[in-house]
Amino acid sequence: MLVYRSEEEIEILRRNNLLVSKTLAEVAKLIKPGVTTLELDKRAEEFIRDHGAVPGFLGYGGFPNTLCTSVNDQVVHGIPSDYVLKDGDIISVDCGTYMDGYYGDTAYTFPVGEVSEEVMKLLRTTKESLFKGIENAIVGKRVGDIGYAVQYHAENAGYSVVREMVGHGLGKNMHESPEVPNYGRRGRGVKLNKGLVICIEPMINLGEKYIRQENDGWTIRTVDGKPSAHYELAVVVDKEKADILSTFDYIEEITKNRI
Ligand code: MG
Ligand code: MG
Repeated sequence: MLVYRSEEEIEILRRNNLLVSKTLAEVAKLIKPGVTTLELDKRAEEFIRDHGAVPGFLGYGGFPNTLCTSVNDQVVHGIPSDYVLKDGDIISVDCGTYMDGYYGDTAYTFPVGEVSEEVMKLLRTTKESLFKGIENAIVGKRVGDIGYAVQYHAENAGYSVVREMVGHGLGKNMHESPEVPNYGRRGRGVKLNKGLVICIEPMINLGEKYIRQENDGWTIRTVDGKPSAHYELAVVVDKEKADILSTFDYIEEITKNRI
């Protein structure tokens, strides 16, 4: 069942998603060679609680932390640890909040130190593919239009699209209907109407599309060991263009938009 959110609900969702966006900017301040992913997680949890929310991922389905930190060939759902970030790594940081009965959910892949031009292009293209998807999150389009736009942009650059992990509706639950795949056919799937809140989150691989899950029950990696990038924003479907609830602006003020 699809739920269309009232303006009041959308404002609560906006507060959550702006808090996630600001939390990711706090994390951005710490990202450099020598820091552990657990240090990033601690800062994120503290920042979220200081702002009157609770971490949305902590305890969700049994997930042990505030952030998902996924490095290099890890696609998503990496568990923060004593892993020390090193020059040339990339790290997807996915963060959620829960406040006033609703969730926020946003992710950004950061380069650590100096990253090869080959991998920087993967980050750039993945972020672009997210915005191509958002251009299609308008009334009258269908979920397949979003997926098609993401897939076309990514595959046109020679990359592959993860199939098993998809975007989703967002609201009183972290994951609601509809599923929002990053691949699809134009004009197919659920019709988009005003007030539908969705997270669009392309996971794009430098190599092949195949993924596997680690024995920890969470971490998703590419089978071929090549890097994967992941960007996510929460948006409300609207008439002319989507209302984007989260933002990368705070992050990119800190990172000087290197992507
Ligand atoms: Mg997320
Ligand atoms: Mg999500």
